[in-house]
Amino acid sequence: MEIRIERTKQPKKRPTDQEIGSIVFGTRFTDHMLQVDYLKGKGWHNARIVPYGPLSIDPASCCLHYGQLIFEGMKAYKTSDGSVVMFRPDQNMARMNKSCERMCIPQIDEAEMVRAIAKLVEVDEEWIPSLPATSLYIRPFIMADEAFLGVHPSDSYLLNVILSPVGAYYKEGLAPVRIYVEKNYVRAVRGGTGFAKCAGNYASALKSQVEAEKEGYSQVLWLDGLEGRYIEEVGAMNVFFVIDGTVVTPELNGSILPGITRKSVIEVLKGWNMPVEERRISIDELAQAHKDGRVGEAFGAGTAAVISPIGELKWGDTVMHISGGKIGAVSQRLYDEITGIQTCTREDRFGWVYKVK
Ligand SMILES: *Cc1c(COP(=O)(O)O)cnc(C)c1O
Repeated sequence: MEIRIERTKQPKKRPTDQEIGSIVFGTRFTDHMLQVDYLKGKGWHNARIVPYGPLSIDPASCCLHYGQLIFEGMKAYKTSDGSVVMFRPDQNMARMNKSCERMCIPQIDEAEMVRAIAKLVEVDEEWIPSLPATSLYIRPFIMADEAFLGVHPSDSYLLNVILSPVGAYYKEGLAPVRIYVEKNYVRAVRGGTGFAKCAGNYASALKSQVEAEKEGYSQVLWLDGLEGRYIEEVGAMNVFFVIDGTVVTPELNGSILPGITRKSVIEVLKGWNMPVEERRISIDELAQAHKDGRVGEAFGAGTAAVISPIGELKWGDTVMHISGGKIGAVSQRLYDEITGIQTCTREDRFGWVYKVK
């Protein structure tokens, strides 16, 4: 894939690393973006890195009406020796293709896209912060941009990649979060789009999120859409519980988003010979285990926060306090190991680090 590069003539003022540490996640963007067009019969073409700026699209573009739009989220880091690396970008591109397949969006060439994203990151290298817990968040997305008001797959698409320098996802850092177990709304059902990172999944989750926030909770824990019993995931994170020393996470069932952090957590735990189970776990089982004092820790896992300890779960009238509001040992150890691999301060035993330069 040939990539044309047009550099900005008006570079923005890059926030300092200290500023990046305090700005809200995903609110500042770098100087450039990557775009690739798709047209039926022609395929993906016209890859270009251009100055970051507004898109001009037809108001009849079908993604605006029927939501044919998917995205990804991944990160690049500046290491202490000045190298630039990305974490498991091949996994993100593979998942992007799975989301595309579900939403009738044409497949991308995964390896070519990793190289194109690496090029964009290199162009905006100066924007990568280097303080601990900071990184460059990478947001690829594909939108259907054919202009028609009809419900069928678009014949044309625009792939975009934008970059955002970020600090810690939660201002409190690794401090435990309060989670609200959702009883009324569902996120995904069997046969639906739960496993895909498609825009509509998040729009339909907003109402629940807003209601939970009103009650002082930072995120929602979703239960399965059929019985409202089995634990699925949290907001934009997969969820783990340490029960009797075994790390338990819901098995992938089609309605749960297959997180790359989730996968990495499982692989790291196995490497440590810690017992880990991917299985169905109901909220009743968790509440009972908690009552019996067998739940040592709970945490979320996702690209944005990496590991996010859970200090409280509220399920109807049942309030479960976990780890005494402190960061559990497993959560802390996983956070240190995974962020260590990501920033090359720990050995990349699994070959997860992709060197940009
Ligand atoms: C992105 C996302 C995750 C986490 O996936 P990662 O690849 O670890 O970032 C989990 N759940 C949902 C709903 C998500 O959108």
